Amino acid sequence: MIQFSQPLSELDWIPRPKLVALRRFEIERVEHLLTHFPSRYEDRTEFSGFPREESDVPICLCGEVVKTQLRRFGGWKKIFEATLQETNTNALSQPLVLRWFNLHYVQKMIATGQRLVVFGKPRLRGRRLCLEHPEFEVIENDEEISVHFRRITPIYPATEGLSQRAFRGLIYQALQDLDKASVETILPNEVDLGVRIDALKQIHFPDSQASLVAARNHLVFSEFFAMQMVIAARRFATSLRSGQAHCGDGALLEKFLHGLPFDLTDAQIRVIDELRRDLAAGRPMSRLLQGDVGSGKTVVAIAAMLLAVEAGFQAALMAPTQILAEQHYSVLCRWLEPLSVRISLRTADRQEESFSPLVAGEETAQIIIGTHALLYGGVSFDHLGLVVIDEQHKFGVSQRARLTTREPTPDVLVMTATPIPRTLTMTVYGDLDVSVIDEMPSSRGKIITAVRDQSKFGDVLSFMREQLEAGRQVYIVYPLIDESEKLDVKAAVAEFEIWRERLRPFRCELLHGRIPGPEKQLIMDRFRRGESSALISTTVIEVGVDVPNATVMLIENAERFGLAQLHQLRGRIGRGEHKSYCILFCEEKSSETMAKLTVLEKTSDGFEVAEADWDMRGPGDLLGTSQSGLPALKLGNLKTDAHVMRQAREAATAILRADPTLQSRENQRFRSLIVEERGRTFSNVS
Ligand code: ADP
Ligand code: MG
Repeated sequence: MIQFSQPLSELDWIPRPKLVALRRFEIERVEHLLTHFPSRYEDRTEFSGFPREESDVPICLCGEVVKTQLRRFGGWKKIFEATLQETNTNALSQPLVLRWFNLHYVQKMIATGQRLVVFGKPRLRGRRLCLEHPEFEVIENDEEISVHFRRITPIYPATEGLSQRAFRGLIYQALQDLDKASVETILPNEVDLGVRIDALKQIHFPDSQASLVAARNHLVFSEFFAMQMVIAARRFATSLRSGQAHCGDGALLEKFLHGLPFDLTDAQIRVIDELRRDLAAGRPMSRLLQGDVGSGKTVVAIAAMLLAVEAGFQAALMAPTQILAEQHYSVLCRWLEPLSVRISLRTADRQEESFSPLVAGEETAQIIIGTHALLYGGVSFDHLGLVVIDEQHKFGVSQRARLTTREPTPDVLVMTATPIPRTLTMTVYGDLDVSVIDEMPSSRGKIITAVRDQSKFGDVLSFMREQLEAGRQVYIVYPLIDESEKLDVKAAVAEFEIWRERLRPFRCELLHGRIPGPEKQLIMDRFRRGESSALISTTVIEVGVDVPNATVMLIENAERFGLAQLHQLRGRIGRGEHKSYCILFCEEKSSETMAKLTVLEKTSDGFEVAEADWDMRGPGDLLGTSQSGLPALKLGNLKTDAHVMRQAREAATAILRADPTLQSRENQRFRSLIVEERGRTFSNVS
């Protein structure tokens, strides 16, 4: 008997070289071996009789060898043929010819009188029905169950250094010897999916298609459940931490909303309500706010910060780039001036410069805006009540964690414009509550997106000039891969000179990551004020930049950007009342590139773009593998098994809601799930 957790090295029937090969796949224990799941199956259940005609589907047959023959052709080449006859012959029975070309070892293995089981596609060769190079096995004893044939046979993912046969044999043997009692079933009580040991047996060696489906259901559910237990545990751990209510009575907020030049959308009103409830609650808020580019997240963030300020706390707003921090700063100064809220800006480049009479020292500031510098610099927070993290996909998980492990725990609002498909929200951000702004301000002009190549450049240029003459502004974006490289900067400068000629007399400016911060700020300010008409830029303008009068974006080498990034970039236009145009220049017209760019032509809905992106690239890439922190799923598929994830999440949440620290006897068995998984990096905002 072997134990589920036993190291494979203790099993003397596994040859040492195989152990070494297994270790390469991180298979070191019985458990790992048995959770190395088949990637597909071959139906090798035995066919009821010998076939009479060709078949494109391989079939499994069993019979007796009545004749063998070695034939030569073309000088030294050899064909080995064995004639196989049905065991219970009848008047219509036809023998089948098995043929192998130049395989010496086969002829040594097969002899007249033997019983064979074979698997292959029957083909007509002349008038004879043949199986060429079938997989086969000699039956020694009919009682003996074959591991490899006469069943639905598992095929494993590439197992370098181990044949399919060898690998299958190991798993079969391990299942035979396994002490059933050592395999624990850890599922919620109300879930009736059988026991784990049976699921493991059936996923490797299914009795039928139905039992395979059942086994997979069990294992996918338990995989997702384990994941959701970790996430739920995090979530409840946060809620148990000491927090405070950070919510004023809303008079300040009312005043702010009255002064706005527009009405809030229903979605904004709803989200502000959700935030107000979180702020008023004693437990710390951990909330993710999703809203497509331009949906108006900033106003919502300001609303939340004002509620905290009114209650006597400081609020911090963190942006991923300096340009964005500066922009937030000037927007807040403008909007909050009538309210006499004290605001200070903290970035790497500008420690204490003042812009407005409202600027306050750090000690007395009520709202502090910053970039990452805010995390590392010695900013003293007096009573930090709320942290808003804008465009979170630009922040590493650890950075988030660093800011929010303070005591007492401030409320945390994470904002992202990268729409995340629902299943991913349940996982990557599963430990956060989620609010969604799913509505654009009604005053927005439409964005039209078109893919073009250089042959259309003349048309595009005259179109841009028309827009400029109508008083609009344009962005021209270059995909500089590494901004630190001198060469790229040089290329951008060269392109800039060319554009300046092309767009004369309109004023152009160049913006890239190597330009010092204060200068960058001046360039952005001039563009915002309409003093320059065209911004030739790298992707530094990607996030958050808000210039409603800009209506054209030309993206060069669009094929070099990812779908999500293109959508982000495109979000810089269509922010005012005018119709806007995004032109994707692209020379490389592979089908992959065209599929990607066509998505953008078809939709401007960020969720649709995200789903398409996910289809094309998979979840890891969608968020940047390093940041997603997703454990690799062995069996479950986040997309096709989304409904299972939802059930698993509900089950895990119910368990931890009733017993957040898993104290009850009943819940002891779930503890291992949480302890074991602790090393993994889920998103961690708690
Ligand atoms: P994002 O969600 O991409 O961060 P912003 O918060 O920058 O978007 O908002 C984009 C623009 O829309 C800003 O100029 C903002 O003032 C404006 N805006 C926000 N809410 C509304 C609204 N309800 N009606 C009209 N304009 C709005
Ligand atoms: Mg924004």
